Amino acid sequence: MSFDSLGLNADILRAVAEQGYNQPTPIQQQAIPVVLAGRDLMASAQTGTGKTAGFTLPLLQLLSSSTAQHSKGRRPIRALILTPTRELAAQVGENVQAYSKYLDLRSLVVFGGVSINPQMMKLRGGVDVLVATPGRLLDLEHQNALDLSQVEILVLDEADRMLDMGFIHDIRRVLARLPAKRQNLLFSATFSDEIKDLAVKLLHNPEQVSVARRNTASEQITQHVHFVDKKRKRELLSFLIGRDNWQQVLVFTRTKHGANHLAEQLNKDGITAAAIHGNKSQGARTRALSDFKQNNIRVLVATDIAARGIDISELPHVVNYELPNVPEDYVHRIGRTGRAAATGEALSLVCVDEHKLLRDIERVLKREIPRIAIAGYEPDPSIKAEPIQNGRQQRGGGNGGSRGRGAPQGQRGNGERSQPAAGERRQAEGQRRQGAPGAARGTRPEGRSAAGEPRNKTRQRRANPA
Ligand code: AMP
Repeated sequence: MSFDSLGLNADILRAVAEQGYNQPTPIQQQAIPVVLAGRDLMASAQTGTGKTAGFTLPLLQLLSSSTAQHSKGRRPIRALILTPTRELAAQVGENVQAYSKYLDLRSLVVFGGVSINPQMMKLRGGVDVLVATPGRLLDLEHQNALDLSQVEILVLDEADRMLDMGFIHDIRRVLARLPAKRQNLLFSATFSDEIKDLAVKLLHNPEQVSVARRNTASEQITQHVHFVDKKRKRELLSFLIGRDNWQQVLVFTRTKHGANHLAEQLNKDGITAAAIHGNKSQGARTRALSDFKQNNIRVLVATDIAARGIDISELPHVVNYELPNVPEDYVHRIGRTGRAAATGEALSLVCVDEHKLLRDIERVLKREIPRIAIAGYEPDPSIKAEPIQNGRQQRGGGNGGSRGRGAPQGQRGNGERSQPAAGERRQAEGQRRQGAPGAARGTRPEGRSAAGEPRNKTRQRRANPA
């Protein structure tokens, strides 16, 4: 199948051709005609499937075919795309820009963690397509900087992540500000009961489309496990990077502290590395990601939330320095490599404490990940497994207070993950404003964007830090 047969107009096809895409991906083949027909859509697709073009291309076409009536006076926001993280918002925004290159449409990306004033100025000039994270969108709305009453198309991208990150209240608030008559597109990698619940409320007679999870089906990603003692993981990682001369490796750790520490150690080993996680400023995160994409640094060490949705074209190597507590996160992590047309390799360095996590992951994948022994790094058989700090073993135990309401029980219920996630959520949504760095820190439960209290009250509190 070609893009030409999907009913897209010449200006869009030209922009698509310039991206070098020859053929629509399965999600694009299924989603584009549905969106063009004006239907609501519930799509099961994760990052890496080409889902962004799957909703962006038809959305742009729908808007551009009815631009004329809006061309006089200030342009209202006609399409709103909500994403859970700043990185994803920025990426979606780049896609929108690229695909609308030959159209008379204006787009803007807004997220927290950066100054709000330039965003307000740009909104004043009129924007057709707004890509936003929920918290900043509401902040702008409270400042009367935007009007959502003319929105024709709403996209919720990575809806499961938004719920996991505790944005359900913000989403509800946004929905309340949209006109009742509109087209709704919901994209989610997973369909928990909570997502289904949201879908029932949000979507009208939706068409459902789904594509195979690339992780389980993908032959493009080679996966391996290396068993190694915990204290020798760093050494083994440096060895592999050097031995195979890897130039671009995304490494996952479980905690922010672990990410910092590992990046420091790799730098000491002479391997250029940077860490991204929720305690880093937005500037530092953007810089690290861009250095990594441009091959200025070889290793990017990331926590799960910081890496979410990041799209690095043809990323060749992903390393699980520590296995995630939640098996599904393994799938998301390795989905960073082998994207679209490229092939990739995903390795996991597994110590004795993590054998149970490995079994859980393999159960989700429905297969065993091949083990490869590295001579000189075989684990010491006398070392016995110890409980992982704040790990799965604590599931259901006292730590639950910091967890997002959106997290499905039993899926993300471990205290370990919730700790970093809480801070990262705040960061992801950019509640910390420039000029008032401490204002939001720790004052808000669970980064849940001031759930249960009026937004303007929050703003006052943030604007007047104690
Ligand atoms: P996404 O799932 O939207 O994050 O897209 C994943 C990657 O696939 C991005 O780097 C896109 O640029 C790329 N991509 C999207 N559509 C296509 C296509 N039809 N052919 C090749 N690559 C694509």
